[in-house]
Amino acid sequence: MIPNLNIVPFVSVDHMMKLVLTVGVERFLSELAGYVEEDFRRWEAFDKTPRVASHSAEGVIELMPTSDGRNYGFKYVNGHPKNTREGRQTVTAFGVLADVATGYPVLMSEMTILTALRTAATSAVAAKHLARPDSRRMAIIGNGAQSEFQALAFKALLGVTELRLHDIDPDATEKCARNLGGLGFAITACRSAQEAVEGADVITTVTADKQCATILTDNMAGAGVHINAVGGDCPGKTELHRDILLRSDIFVEYTPQTRVEGEIQQLAPDHPVTELWRVMTGAAPGRRDARQITLFDSVGFATEDFSALRYVRDRLAGTRLYQELDMLADPDEPRDLFGMLLRAAALGAVPA
Ligand code: NAD
Repeated sequence: MIPNLNIVPFVSVDHMMKLVLTVGVERFLSELAGYVEEDFRRWEAFDKTPRVASHSAEGVIELMPTSDGRNYGFKYVNGHPKNTREGRQTVTAFGVLADVATGYPVLMSEMTILTALRTAATSAVAAKHLARPDSRRMAIIGNGAQSEFQALAFKALLGVTELRLHDIDPDATEKCARNLGGLGFAITACRSAQEAVEGADVITTVTADKQCATILTDNMAGAGVHINAVGGDCPGKTELHRDILLRSDIFVEYTPQTRVEGEIQQLAPDHPVTELWRVMTGAAPGRRDARQITLFDSVGFATEDFSALRYVRDRLAGTRLYQELDMLADPDEPRDLFGMLLRAAALGAVPA
């Protein structure tokens, strides 16, 4: 993309927004979902490790690395539910894609917007394999930063056109309904989660609270529903009543990470779950019948960020939607790093 290998393209928030708007949000989500699924299908090519998490009383900061042997990627991401009360995002992120052969970074990007897009694309890819194919009505419980992206991904990939929204903060629901107005949805704002799930084919839970919450009680998950559980993604942070888990067929990204972070932290460590890649490659069944309850216990895995960075790198080609970062030292003689410093001094590089 950029001939000078010592210049790293950097996609700022502003450039990411322009890229998404140029491509179109739904098309971006569909294309990104293609990359996510492609990488799940070649699961065994990836170097996999649970993310490295640093927990505090207020939240978590995590590093999410992976490699397919050609490229290496990682994301820095936080999760701080209290942040919104102080006017900040719950989740912010940035990431790097690198060339394994040289170890040089080939892309650096904001990933706050990209995480919302990749999380939604992954949820919709999972639902494509797990929800009933005639699913049109989705309940979204938790109407914060992720919610509109979830709605649009399910519209783009599954044809969801009816939304039932609920949040403990009615302003969040009002914001979500307003943002999605005119985008082809019939939207109902609901006073309770119970009301929101009425007649829903898909239930998305995407709340933020640093505790084991019960957003869905057992009676709220009817036969045939697909549950897209996105908000429970840390030890001690879950959204579903345990009894729902016991009635569901559970699908996960990477089992060792989800056992610690997902809804299944409430279950015995040997409770059976199916990894999504096995469904996508045909190694395991997804939905078997119309009455089964399927649950995608989403926590977010490093390959999804890798796919997102790969997609952005490919999509940037031919655009100017990046800045060139001078972040790799490049002396004429590679071992003369100090000499480069001396030459800069001789050329008057020292600020007055
Ligand atoms: P956000 O803070 O912007 O929105 C969360 C919303 O949940 C808020 O509007 C809040 O009022 C609402 N809420 C809290 N408790 C509720 C309850 N009991 N019932 C109904 N609504 C409730 O956060 P966000 O950026 O939208 O993220 C939402 C969650 O998704 C977070 O927990 C985050 O960690 C998680 N997340 C998961 C993934 C993944 O890959 N699985 C990726 C990104 C974010």
